[in-house]
Amino acid sequence: MKAITVEPKKPGTARFEDFPEPDMREGSILVEAIAVGVCGTDVEIAEGKYGWAPPGKTRLVLGHESLGRVLDPGPSSGLKKGDQVVGIVRRPDPVPCPNCAVGEWDMCRNGQYTERGIKEIDGFMSERWRIEPEYAIKVDPTLGILGVLLEPTTVVTKAWEHILAVGQRAFWEPKTVLVTGAGPIGLLGALIGKQLGIEVHVLARTETGPKPELVRDLGATYHSCSVTDVGFEPDVIMECTGVGQVISESIAVIGASGIVCLTGVGHGGAVPKIATANVASSAVLKNNVVFGSVNANKRHWYKAAEALARADRDWLARLITRRERPEDFTKALERRSEDIKVVIQFAEV
Ligand SMILES: [Zn+2]
Repeated sequence: MKAITVEPKKPGTARFEDFPEPDMREGSILVEAIAVGVCGTDVEIAEGKYGWAPPGKTRLVLGHESLGRVLDPGPSSGLKKGDQVVGIVRRPDPVPCPNCAVGEWDMCRNGQYTERGIKEIDGFMSERWRIEPEYAIKVDPTLGILGVLLEPTTVVTKAWEHILAVGQRAFWEPKTVLVTGAGPIGLLGALIGKQLGIEVHVLARTETGPKPELVRDLGATYHSCSVTDVGFEPDVIMECTGVGQVISESIAVIGASGIVCLTGVGHGGAVPKIATANVASSAVLKNNVVFGSVNANKRHWYKAAEALARADRDWLARLITRRERPEDFTKALERRSEDIKVVIQFAEV
């Protein structure tokens, strides 16, 4: 079969090449790839900035936003041939730490977790892949190719769960959320916010392209100003840009007893002047919480699959702005200004 592989930490080594059929040890379920979403992490791995090959190997199969069709369900999965499934990305560390021991591998304490397509396990950008029954999530077949959006949806499902959990420290009725960034994570975070019945505002730089209309069609308000000019004090800010300026302004404008959830990983560059003592006194005097959120555990995968199944199909479909063939993976890894989610399509749905 063919796979998109890379030698991690070596720029320019990504190839679409012949690759051995998936090993039985990777799981009893054999899956035919339908599509794999591309995200910034894949680009970083292809650029040689990140990623780890499986132990004893030099190359890693890329891809962690999967969607596939079961070819062989194996003896004990409860799945049927033809079912559409998505593979969970992270595996608990082998020690395991207390969080991994209870299945909350997204909260791993020792960093020894592994991740498909990122850290020491081959990913999903291969014509066929295998998965263990406990890490295969069945998706609503009426979603079609939109099932490929499940992995990014798990990230915001977890973030929202933690926002609501943090809010329980006191009496709290969040009315407004400001989502900063209108990429896939921001837009899916906005979708979940709407599903929770919260008034949603989305802020991004662009005034053109599909993003403002996607936000409005969700029933949310689009802002292309700076965070300090949105004109209200949000109860929740879900920060999805990783840009220092946006983060510091978010911490400045969050309302009293508000929560800032950081989901974006920094794009480097200069750290803006942010007076730590001022941030601290603002947080103290307003009872604010600023916290980070990454990855997702099985509970979030389950809830995300429910959220996607409930969402408007036409709206979700507009998030996938480009589909590329596996042999054109270099195009899929390019960032174009009008892109929201780019997917590599291996087979028809
Ligand atoms: Zn752990």
